[in-house]
Amino acid sequence: MDKGMLIVIAGPSGVGKGTVKNELLQRNENLVESISATTRKPRAGEVEGISYYFKSEGEFDDLIIDNMFLEYCGVFERRYGTMREFVEENIDLGHDVLLEIDVQGALKVRGSKPNAIMIMLLPPSLPDLIERLQKRNTETEVEINRRFSKAKMEISQTNCFDYVVVNDTIENACKKIELIIKAEKLRSERSSDFVTKIIEN
Ligand code: 5GP
Repeated sequence: MDKGMLIVIAGPSGVGKGTVKNELLQRNENLVESISATTRKPRAGEVEGISYYFKSEGEFDDLIIDNMFLEYCGVFERRYGTMREFVEENIDLGHDVLLEIDVQGALKVRGSKPNAIMIMLLPPSLPDLIERLQKRNTETEVEINRRFSKAKMEISQTNCFDYVVVNDTIENACKKIELIIKAEKLRSERSSDFVTKIIEN
């Protein structure tokens, strides 16, 4: 059985990573979502083990000590981490694992998983991004300003990614990401077993 791929979707806060991710998961049966651990408190409607694994500071420290994270980092004074075992087991089972993560974390994943497909999701413009953050109504004004400043820094790291997708509409963004996944599956290095079989026959 072919192994799955790790698909990393990163981008500044408010760009719509979560919405694009959910749409992709609905449309593509083979995609599995990586669920992160976090020390932040659940927001209304968030469910343990589905939105995140919500951890205390101490529990998060234990996960770090036990090397359970593929990457972890502090984002806005809270910590977030990608669960290593979950990602590796699903890839071995042939599933494509979708990781929606901040830019800082994505770059760390590239370090430990060089084959990961790195997609930067960008807003059509910066005013558009701030409007989305305000509409979301989940952060204070101070936090929105902080996320906006960070966004500019994150966008400047786009050249470390394999692909850029502008989230002008969810439909367009999803279609482009689906094309990227299809093309990646056709890469010659992913077909080496098939090529060997043809030659041997
Ligand atoms: P939120 O608190 O709004 O759910 O997420 C805040 C930020 O943390 C988002 O940019 C989100 O993508 C990022 N994030 C979520 N999970 C992880 C993770 O496992 N690792 C890292 N580095 N960032 C994450």
